[in-house]
Amino acid sequence: MIRHHPAEASLIACAAGAMPMAHARVIEVHAARCPVCAAGLRAAEAAGGALLDALPPAPMAPDALARALARLDTAAPEPAPAAAAFDLAALASGRWRRVAPGIAIMNLLPRDATDSRLDLIRVAPGRALLTHGHTGPETTCVLSGAFADGTGTFAAGDCVEADAALDHTPRALPGEDCVCLIATTHHLRPHGWLGRLVRPLLGM
Ligand SMILES: [Zn+2]
Repeated sequence: MIRHHPAEASLIACAAGAMPMAHARVIEVHAARCPVCAAGLRAAEAAGGALLDALPPAPMAPDALARALARLDTAAPEPAPAAAAFDLAALASGRWRRVAPGIAIMNLLPRDATDSRLDLIRVAPGRALLTHGHTGPETTCVLSGAFADGTGTFAAGDCVEADAALDHTPRALPGEDCVCLIATTHHLRPHGWLGRLVRPLLGM
């Protein structure tokens, strides 16, 4: 059962194309598994479309807003198009790079103009990442397995948003590999000399 969802503001930003692509991809992958957020994305897309339709190319028709609102009421539910278009399996056919015992990373989208990147990370059961903070937002969707980081326990389908204020030590729970799709903007901020040593290896 999915228990952790992106914030409403993130769904709206995702639908409006107003967030870095890497973070939008993570939210879309979550929404493809979460009917609640899929409906939220569709509603945000419909609202955005209705607002655009209501913008006047010429003087606005007196009933433009009423028609736009009526369209919201009658809009038929459809699968979120962005979620359907993003083929995670095809993207994730690259090579795992081992960065520490029990930890591997596969880069899916290289760092872009917003200094964001998209990666898969695979952590063996019981293994922990080094304690780290962030210098920008991080959006994670758990694809399989589960992890805990002191703020909560996150299982398959869950979406976690972290900001620069969060310091954590994510640890995969026993049982199976924990595989997560992670968007990061800017860099991780590792603690301690070991973290600073391995950060260049992670590239994150
Ligand atoms: Zn959700």
